[in-house]
Amino acid sequence: MIEQQLIRRGIKDQRVLDAMRQVPRHLFVEDALQAHAYGDFPLPIGSGQTISQPYIVALMTEALHLKGPEKVLEIGTGSGYQAAVLSRLCQRVYTVERIDILVGRARKVFDRLRYHNIVSRIDDGTVGWPAEAPFDAIMVTAGGPHIPQPLLAQLADPGRLIIPVGSQGLQELQVVEKKGGTLSVAVIEQVRFVDLIGAHGWPI
Ligand code: SAH
Repeated sequence: MIEQQLIRRGIKDQRVLDAMRQVPRHLFVEDALQAHAYGDFPLPIGSGQTISQPYIVALMTEALHLKGPEKVLEIGTGSGYQAAVLSRLCQRVYTVERIDILVGRARKVFDRLRYHNIVSRIDDGTVGWPAEAPFDAIMVTAGGPHIPQPLLAQLADPGRLIIPVGSQGLQELQVVEKKGGTLSVAVIEQVRFVDLIGAHGWPI
């Protein structure tokens, strides 16, 4: 997975490659799918949701430029895999998921792996996590119609946010950089994510 899917496609950040070498992706999918866990595709995780393709996890993680001391907010815990990868690269991960069964399963895997720097909650993540703001980096792993304003407000300066923005079928990955009080946006890839549903996302 690391050689063929990540390095060959241009992922260069050694810390990201090491984190993805280390985190056991097969523990984040159900038993029947474990043999396919390192394949070059997304997989279903129940409740109509998916764990992203490894390359997309690497690309989004690399785009945050994490060095170690950061507080990171993730919206869309899903299986917990992305949060687990982030947790190897920063000080603490705050992850929010709206579907309670998924949060329960992800928490069990975090405990089993002793990834104690991940905290999670069940909520609409489009409103962020105001009590813990600001965040040095924010990653949204579901596709929305626009960037939720509360997330921009809860992003530290300097800070980076990555989110798929577009229609319900196709989005562009937008990387927002906040620096010196100004925001700049770069588009890095076309992607297909499940819907970001909530007050600042798609309606239920
Ligand atoms: N990061 C996940 C992939 C998640 S798929 C992983 O590594 O497995 C996207 C997830 O976003 C789904 O589980 C979906 O329920 C969740 N989601 C959608 N809208 C949300 C919202 N407003 N707040 C929190 N989670 C949301």
